[in-house]
Amino acid sequence: MVRKMGVYAVLAYVIYGLFFYWYLFHFTDSNLPFEFQGTKADPATFLNGRELMLSEEYSKIRNLLFFLSTPFEWLFYFLILLVGFSKAFKSWAENSSKYKLLQTAIYLIWLSFFAFVATFPLSYIGYTLSKSYNISTQSFASWMKDELIDFWINFGTLMIIVPVLYWLMKRSVKRWWFYAWLLSVPFTLFLMFLQPIVIDPLYNDFYPLKNKELETKILSLAEKAQIPAEHVFEVNMADKTNSLNAYVTGIGSNARIVLWDTTLNKLSNDQILFIMAHEICHYVEKHIYIGIALYLLFSLVGLYLTYRIMNWAVSRFGKELKIPDVKDIRSLPLFFMILSMLMFVSSPFSNLISRYEEKRADQYAINMTQNPESAITSFQELTKSGLTQVNPPLLVKIFRYSHPTMLERISTLEEFEIKQRIKDK
Ligand SMILES: [Zn+2]
Repeated sequence: MVRKMGVYAVLAYVIYGLFFYWYLFHFTDSNLPFEFQGTKADPATFLNGRELMLSEEYSKIRNLLFFLSTPFEWLFYFLILLVGFSKAFKSWAENSSKYKLLQTAIYLIWLSFFAFVATFPLSYIGYTLSKSYNISTQSFASWMKDELIDFWINFGTLMIIVPVLYWLMKRSVKRWWFYAWLLSVPFTLFLMFLQPIVIDPLYNDFYPLKNKELETKILSLAEKAQIPAEHVFEVNMADKTNSLNAYVTGIGSNARIVLWDTTLNKLSNDQILFIMAHEICHYVEKHIYIGIALYLLFSLVGLYLTYRIMNWAVSRFGKELKIPDVKDIRSLPLFFMILSMLMFVSSPFSNLISRYEEKRADQYAINMTQNPESAITSFQELTKSGLTQVNPPLLVKIFRYSHPTMLERISTLEEFEIKQRIKDK
């Protein structure tokens, strides 16, 4: 039975992978709808032939990697249970120490280490791919350092969450999911507060804007929206990537707008001001807080479903998965697997909300700057620097796109430009 379940799982993964390969490389047609051909959203008007070809190629492989990665995690956790590794980690932990917390730490180290090794090839392919298409500029050593920081931050977070989670499971077989959620509320807020000042600086350097002339312009824009100057930062990304970006992060007194130095170096002042105005919208409309509220709502439902599914899986397949009881730490891979599945399933919904916020931010930015030409060219530059697909296949958009497609973003701006021209006449 165990062997059969394993074979079926691997087979299902292979069929799933083949489906997406066929979908991305053969089924979907990357040509623009007729009415968009020749417009400013048509990449043929702002990319050269080579860039066009590269962006198609690169996006297709990237999309395939995306669709392969998450279910690969599920397969990994499933096999870890089936083969008996989870059981082995626990007994190794119990043989090494008699202290409960230390046992949990040892179990987590083994599980994290195996997960790291198993997922490493896919992450490495992602890195070399982006390097060979000249998007990443990061040295292997620097990339590896980031991977290791990820590993330890992940481990540290698990060391806080997992002991509490299993303690709750033991205390309340029926309500642990709810108490876990209650505790996750302050924990999430605390992490969001610390993110920009404790976690992000582990990866990159943050500082006030270097170009003082530009800073004056940017800060006067921020001032219009009542954002204090000390909440605007530049981050050094040029050593890592050629692509352009800016974002809003942190909550409370740590809320801030961060502009990648690549964006500041490659775009003109007017283009940067448009990007800045877009971020200002996220900041003033408090999209982060909406995001946190939705995340907490999702996790309440998610934890409840996880509780139900775990109970079912353990009573039905406990023997095969080698999990004697939900509250035994051996069930942790199952917990991660179900949570990851639920997150994947809910991602179209959270992306939809995010795309709505992004659309608002674009609208806000163009109303504030009134300069559609710079806005359009800044998006064209963004497309070029990241080799982004202007019009991605539907499933890619649904599962991957937290932003509207460039086709949608640029054509909306073009409409604004046309309306403005009519008004001016
Ligand atoms: Zn945005």
